Amino acid sequence: MNPYRMPKPSAGILFKGDFCYADHKGRIDDRAGVARIRLTSEYLWVNDNLSIPVASVLHVGDVNGKAVSIVFHNALSDVEEGVILAGRNWFGLRDRGRSYALVHRLEEARRHAPPLEQFAERIRDQSGELKLGCEVCGAKPANELEFGWFFCFGVFPIAGAYQWKPERRFCCAKHGARACFVNNLVTGLVGYLGFPSVLVAPYRVWRNVREMNKVFGWNTRATVLNTLVGFILPAAAVGGLVYFIATR
Ligand SMILES: [Zn+2]
Repeated sequence: MNPYRMPKPSAGILFKGDFCYADHKGRIDDRAGVARIRLTSEYLWVNDNLSIPVASVLHVGDVNGKAVSIVFHNALSDVEEGVILAGRNWFGLRDRGRSYALVHRLEEARRHAPPLEQFAERIRDQSGELKLGCEVCGAKPANELEFGWFFCFGVFPIAGAYQWKPERRFCCAKHGARACFVNNLVTGLVGYLGFPSVLVAPYRVWRNVREMNKVFGWNTRATVLNTLVGFILPAAAVGGLVYFIATR
């Protein structure tokens, strides 16, 4: 199981609460939504896309008295990463008490966690090879990659909605290509329903395909299939129009 993308815990919860995502100055990013975090002795669950193993936390700090910065070691990609969260009360306003409570509980959990080296050994062997397999089927080699789907409706920003939903995965080439297909299919169906979607959606489709090829090497068949599926709705609309004109 990918320790950075664990399921939402339902038992053994030490602390939970609603938080907002914030920037490095502690300013709340309203567009990023709400993180309904849950802390267990093993990991801090932030959202479906991110869980932080307590043993991998390098630093928990205060951001201008407004938010909490959590820096952790991502042993899959061997880099330092971080997330900044600000406590949020029932009225949706900043709640410093909740932020301090998170710092306190996370520091307490860290004191009981195994050392980082011990945790990292579960993921990489001594030669640096990844031990962990695909999060779907367990096959090796597996790699970390990010795909997303794009949604656009109406005319943004006047009257409409516009969203890019990135999702991180740790999987084998087969499940990587499959995840790319699903994300491009969704983009192909809901990504062209407004403006500036015609400009953005093709780029998003290509970005997913590029990510797949970058991580697993060039695959012509998957590239063609996953690119075409991202244009399914506009292609169907053009095809329908041609058919309509031709059969009049
Ligand atoms: Zn797999």
